[in-house]
Amino acid sequence: MSELIVGIDLGTTNSELAVSFDDKVQVVPIHGHPIMPSCVGLDLSGKLIVGQAAKNQLVAAPEHTVLSIKRRMGEETKVRLGEKEFSPEEISSFILRELKLEGEKQLGQPIRKAVITVPAFFNERQRKATQIAGELAGLEVVRIINEPTAAAMAYGAGVAEGERMLVYDLGGGTFDVSVVVVEQGVVEVKASHGDTHLGGDDFDQLLVDYAVLEFKRQHNIDLIQDLKTLRRLKVVLERAKRTLSDEPFVKVREEYLDGQHHLELELLREAYERMILPLLERTLTCVHQSLTDARLGPKDIQKVMLVGGATRTPLVQRLLQERLRLDPRFEIDPDLIVAMGASIQGGVIAGQQRHSILVDITPHTYSTTALSTRNGEEGLFCVPILPRNTPLPASKSEMVYTLYDNQPSAKVEVHQGESERPEQNTFIGDFLVEGLSQAPEGNPIVIHFDLDLNGILKVTATEKVTGLAKTVALDTKGQHVLNLDEARRNIASLVGEPGAESVPAGEAAPGNGNGDLQADEEELLTSAKELRKRAEALLQKSIGEEDAIEIREIIHASAVAIKDSNWDALEEKNEALSDLLFYLED
Ligand code: AMP
Repeated sequence: MSELIVGIDLGTTNSELAVSFDDKVQVVPIHGHPIMPSCVGLDLSGKLIVGQAAKNQLVAAPEHTVLSIKRRMGEETKVRLGEKEFSPEEISSFILRELKLEGEKQLGQPIRKAVITVPAFFNERQRKATQIAGELAGLEVVRIINEPTAAAMAYGAGVAEGERMLVYDLGGGTFDVSVVVVEQGVVEVKASHGDTHLGGDDFDQLLVDYAVLEFKRQHNIDLIQDLKTLRRLKVVLERAKRTLSDEPFVKVREEYLDGQHHLELELLREAYERMILPLLERTLTCVHQSLTDARLGPKDIQKVMLVGGATRTPLVQRLLQERLRLDPRFEIDPDLIVAMGASIQGGVIAGQQRHSILVDITPHTYSTTALSTRNGEEGLFCVPILPRNTPLPASKSEMVYTLYDNQPSAKVEVHQGESERPEQNTFIGDFLVEGLSQAPEGNPIVIHFDLDLNGILKVTATEKVTGLAKTVALDTKGQHVLNLDEARRNIASLVGEPGAESVPAGEAAPGNGNGDLQADEEELLTSAKELRKRAEALLQKSIGEEDAIEIREIIHASAVAIKDSNWDALEEKNEALSDLLFYLED
C-alpha cells in the first residue's frame, strides 16, 4: 500500500478532507458530515471547538468565534478569540488540526502528510501562510495546489483527450476561473484568473445591508453598530439565500431582532438577482480574461465545471449560458470536488498510478525592478521575469545593471502582478546584494527566479564581473521559521503540543515526521538565533567591510539552512559565525 497523503480543501466557509486509493476517492466524514464549517471558537469553559459546534455559537458568542479566516490569510494581523489573540495561520491551523484528528479517527491511522488547496489567485504570502498553518497543525504540506486545478484533477480521469474545460469556482470568499486542457493524459492549466475577495459571503452581506435598511425604514432603528444582531442577520439571510436557489421567493421572520421589534421581509429571487448581478458581472470579466490569456473563445470550451457552493445560485448558471453560450455541469458535488482532486494529487505523489498528471501554471507575473525610461518617463519600472501562465516549476533569469561606477551594492525588489508600475503590484520582498566588485556603471547582475510547484518563489542575484560572482537568495521564509516557534507557543495553550495527541494508541511516536523538532535541532536553532543577534549588534559598530560581508553571508546561509531544515549546514554556519564573533567581539 502506498504512503498516505490526504487532500484538504481549506475553504473560507467549509473545509473537506479526502483520501485517494488506487481505484477510488473517499471523502472522509468529519463529525459525521462530509463538510466541516471552517469555524473556530471557544466554548463557555474556554475549550477550543472547531466546525459545526463553533458555528452554532456564532450568534450567541461572536467574540468567542472566528469565521472566514481564509480571507485574512497572508495578512500580518491578529484576530481575537476570547482573551487571546491569534494570527490567521494559527486559526487555520486549528481547522486543519481538527480535520487531521477526525480523519485519523475515521481512517484508523495517523495522517502526517497533506496536499492543501488554495485559490489560484492566492499570492506568495497567502500560500506561505497556508503552508505554515499546515505545519502548525502537525502536517507536512507536501504540495499546495490551486483549487481549480484540483477540480480538474477530479474530472481528469473521465475526460476525453484534447478536451478543453473551464473551471468556474465561486465559493464563500473567493472566485477563480481556469482554462484547463487534457493532452496525452496530462491536465494542463492554460490560464487562471480570479478575485480573492468575491464570493457567497458578499451576497450575504448585500442581503444584510438590505435588511438593515428595511429595519430602519420600518422601525427607525439603526442596527449597523450591533455586531451580535448583524451576525444573527447574516446566519438567517444566508439560509434565505440558499432557499432562493430553489424557490422564487422566501419569507424571513426574525422575532425581537433588536430585543423589541420583529424583522419581517419577503425576498424575491428576481430582486436578489438584481442585487448580485454586478458581482457576477465581475466573475464574467475574469472568465473573458482567462479565455483571452489561453487564446481561446467560448466556442472552444467543451465543458464547464462548477465548483463551490455559491455556483448553486441559478443566476450563475444562467449567465454562463446566456452570455457565453456555455453549458455548465455538476457531475461531481461542487463542495467536494476540490478535496477529491487534492487527494488524487496526494495519491500521485505517494506513487499511485493515475492517468492524469498535473501541470500547473503561475497565475501572476513575477518581476524585479529597474530604473528605465518608458513612454518618455524615467522611473522605477517592473522587469517581468516569470510571465503569468508560465508552467510550474519555472526557472528564469533577467539581467539588470548598476547605475554608477564602483557601485558597492544593489537592492533587488520582487513584485507580483501585471502592472509595469511596482506600486500597483504586490510587493513580495527585497534584499541587498552587497560587496559588488569595483566596476564601471552597467555592471550586470543576473536575477534568477525559481518558482516551485507550490507556487513559492526563491530569488537569486548574481554579480557577473570578471568571472567573480556573488549570490544571495531571497529569504522570505526565514522570518516565518522564527515566528513558527512563537506561534507554536501561542496555540499550545489551547491544543497542547501539535501532533502529540494525534497518533492512535499502539503507533510509534511520530518523531520528526509531524513537523516537531528534535531537541538537538531546537538547540541549533536557539544558538543560531543568539549568534545572529550578537552578529547584528556587531554590524551596527564600525567593523571592517570584509568582515561585515562575511558576517552577512553567514547569516544568510544559516537562514537558508533553517528554511531547508538542513541541520548539518546550520551547525557548520553556527560554528563559522561563532569563530568569527570570537575574533571580532571585544
Ligand atoms: P464553499 O466556500 O465552496 O463551501 O461555498 C460556500 C458558499 O456557498 C457560501 O457562501 C454558501 O452560502 C454558498 N451556498 C451553499 N449552498 C448554496 C445554495 N444552495 N445556493 C446558493 N449559495 C449556496
